[in-house]
Amino acid sequence: MAAFLDTPIEYLKGVGPARADLLKTELDIHRFEDLLMHYPFRYVDRSRIYKIAEVDPDFAYVQIKGRFFDLKIQGQNRGRRLSAKFSDGTDTIELVWFQGISWVQKQIVPNKDFVLFGKPTAFGRKVSMAHPEIISWEDFNKEKVQGLQPVYSTTEKLKNRHLDSRGIQKLLYTLLSDPAYQVAEIFPPSIVNTLKLMDRRQAFLRIHFPGTDELGQKAQFRIKLEELFFTQLKMLLIKGTRQAALKGIYFEKVGDLFNGFYKDHLPFELTNAQKRVIKEIRADMGTGKQMNRLLQGDVGSGKTMVAFMSMLIALDNGYQAALMAPTEILATQHYNSIAELAEPLGLKIGLLTGSVSKAKRKVLHEALQSGEMHILIGTHALIQDTVAFHKLGLVVIDEQHRFGVEQRAKLWKKGQEIPHILVMTATPIPRTLAMTVYGDLDVSVIDEMPLGRKPIETAMRFESSRLRVIGFMKEQIKLGRQVYVVYPLIEESEKLDYQNLMDGYEHILQEFPRPQYEVSIVHGRMRAEDKEGEMQRFKRGETQILVATTVIEVGVNVPNASMMVIESAEKFGLSQLHQLRGRVGRGSEQSYCILMTGNKLSREARMRLEAMVATNNGFEIADLDLKLRGPGEIDGLRQSGLTSLKLADLSKDGEILQISRTLCEKLLEKDPTLMAPENQGLNAHLRKINKGTNWSRIS
Ligand code: ADP
Ligand code: MG
Repeated sequence: MAAFLDTPIEYLKGVGPARADLLKTELDIHRFEDLLMHYPFRYVDRSRIYKIAEVDPDFAYVQIKGRFFDLKIQGQNRGRRLSAKFSDGTDTIELVWFQGISWVQKQIVPNKDFVLFGKPTAFGRKVSMAHPEIISWEDFNKEKVQGLQPVYSTTEKLKNRHLDSRGIQKLLYTLLSDPAYQVAEIFPPSIVNTLKLMDRRQAFLRIHFPGTDELGQKAQFRIKLEELFFTQLKMLLIKGTRQAALKGIYFEKVGDLFNGFYKDHLPFELTNAQKRVIKEIRADMGTGKQMNRLLQGDVGSGKTMVAFMSMLIALDNGYQAALMAPTEILATQHYNSIAELAEPLGLKIGLLTGSVSKAKRKVLHEALQSGEMHILIGTHALIQDTVAFHKLGLVVIDEQHRFGVEQRAKLWKKGQEIPHILVMTATPIPRTLAMTVYGDLDVSVIDEMPLGRKPIETAMRFESSRLRVIGFMKEQIKLGRQVYVVYPLIEESEKLDYQNLMDGYEHILQEFPRPQYEVSIVHGRMRAEDKEGEMQRFKRGETQILVATTVIEVGVNVPNASMMVIESAEKFGLSQLHQLRGRVGRGSEQSYCILMTGNKLSREARMRLEAMVATNNGFEIADLDLKLRGPGEIDGLRQSGLTSLKLADLSKDGEILQISRTLCEKLLEKDPTLMAPENQGLNAHLRKINKGTNWSRIS
């Protein structure tokens, strides 16, 4: 049975070596099973045959039955075309083909009934159809071209070999009607029965040839459930295996550093959400199991403080802590804020990035190894380097969505004690994505902003309002506030974007001349020190305007900045806009975000910008972003099991995902290693789809 589905595709009747090569290169279809999983992307309803007299050029598609007559080749060379008439007794329709003429000629037999399917168009006062799909009445009945018909994605090269949607459908029909076609059930009877699932064999058949709407729906549900189920099963097994196999570091106490900081040096009252999350983290680290926790909190919700206080617990227990950020700017920013918090405690904090000199690096390494340094903050250099800690107890990873499961596993070296891991993300992730991508992590959410924050006011403005925007910037600056002006430099190498940034900068300098105003600029082509120098000038309030690219997207913290102007805002993605906007509204003043846009906006760009104007809620924005872009496009989330989702769509199938998760939890509760006889189908399938993964090493 498995052998049948594993058969190389060239052995399918109607394929052969040439088509097989194309199927492999164009659609990645190598074996029967790959073809079986080439699901239709939609269906057309072919349950009804229209009378030609009823056909209206407004119909999207129409199906008619009748006979051909008056076949004619007209024109020469490139203008060559085949025309024909087609009649069913109620009326006649004109047909025309510009391509594949000799093939079409061979299909057509006079005085025989045919069914045509295609898009009708008005041709003068008559209705005509170009390139209709043709099938003989005999085959129409034999191949059961009735009811819902699948539509497949294909390519030009395949179409030239007559593997258009219909051609692929024929192959599937051949495959599915082969007496050797068998698919074994993989779910245990308990699951099949509780959910009244369509069985696996039937589901693969009905996804291609649903027959009725209801059967099609059941097949879809079954296949989506299966896809989502295995993402969850994998995640929960990783989690379970890890907890069973890895011994975490036991932090027995909350000591003087934590308590002293809390009592004497806390710069503000913690929000209730911060308190709750710190408690959750504290509880994890006191179990003796390794913590793997995701901390979600919107921009500005105060994650840094949570990270810092968690680090203090590690330090209180004689361990070191590390914080890893995706960019140098962000690492530096973290270094500055943590150094400030740590100052009164007399802790030793280090910064390690790609641009730290060899000599300094050596000093850092020694201090780490001896245990003299308490906290190390850095970029990826932190794991790529040969950094050896004296006793590393906690690793905090900021903006983890750029940091996959496998990379997390590299955080510690063989034989070393396994540090606790806290992953922080400011990009609110829709629940469905979080469950799929971070399903192996426990989740904490900071769902409350520090007191006194006023919601940012956001507006969309066209070029024609430029002068008013500049006037408003001047007003804000007069009040002592500062302003960000952000340019899209999507690819830092793109000349045109760079030119726009520089032109914009020149323009700002003209509108805001010295000595009354001072303007900073930061972009990716500058040297790290220069960038840092300019940021610091802005931070100290020596400049009133910071012109920048998205390098300021994350982490920059200047509470006095109360206004952000985003240029060509339509070029930014939704979550990126939200991240950027989060740079203002960090103080107690009313803050503003102005989205400057071109006059021509795509429908999607308009929806993004309108969403920004309508809400400040990161989770709402994340949900919409997922709907607009699809999960494959969300930054860095392409890895992590999402590629196994062919049919399920995380933006729509949240409910099925939840059902899968619950099923998996119940299943593993009873049979944590999947050894029970009734779970062998699941077990085998899981191994097949995750060849060679060693879960115990994945954190
Ligand atoms: P993010 O979650 O985006 O990393 P930060 O940790 O940078 O947010 O915090 C944003 C700002 O809010 C910082 O200036 C920080 O000092 C301040 N902050 C954090 N927690 C509180 C609080 N409980 N009360 C007041 N201000 C706070
Ligand atoms: Mg932050």
